[in-house]
Formats: sequence, C-alpha cells, structure tokens
Amino acid sequence: MVGLFGVLGYGLYNGQREWVIGSLGFIAGIAVFAILIGLLSLSIRCPLCHAHVFRRSGCSVSTKARRTFGSLRLHVAHGALIRGHYRCPYCGEPCDTSSTRR
Ligand SMILES: [Zn+2]
Repeated sequence: MVGLFGVLGYGLYNGQREWVIGSLGFIAGIAVFAILIGLLSLSIRCPLCHAHVFRRSGCSVSTKARRTFGSLRLHVAHGALIRGHYRCPYCGEPCDTSSTRR
C-alpha cells in the first residue's frame, strides 16, 4: 500500500499520467474490495447464540473471550483464518469454521 502511494507520488512528481491513473485505479480497487469484505463479515453470526461476531452488539462479553491486541474481532479473525476454529466472544463456545452450512 505504501508502495502504491510511492508510485502515485512519483507519477504526480514526474507528470506521468499512466502511473497516476494506474495507481489510483489500483487503490480504488483495494478500497472497494476492503469495503466488500467488511460488509460481508458484518453478517457472520455465531452458530450457537446467533450473535454477530464481527459487529459491535449490546451483548455482554463472555469471561472466556480472549483478545488479540485488545480486540475481540481480531482474535476471532485470527482463530478462523489461522487455526480453523474460534471461540465466540459472546457465548464463549468454540466454533469450527470447516463445517458446512445446512
Ligand atoms: Zn456465540
């Protein structure tokens, strides 16, 4: 990302239009992708308590919930991506990400 802004700055400094347009297009693509991922992740629910795992809700956090760098959502994302399972921060039950939906 920093490299992209470097390319953008180089293009602006040297007046190379293709570099500016290319890097702006790439940055816009990444932004759209990040927004899409964010919107999709908001709909993810715990299969047991049906709480939104990535959305801030009024539910009280379980005493078993752990945090990564102070963030509940980061811990869930890390568990789901790296370990294949995570512990729901609200009900405290382990959830497997490899099971298929019915
Ligand atoms: Zn839950």
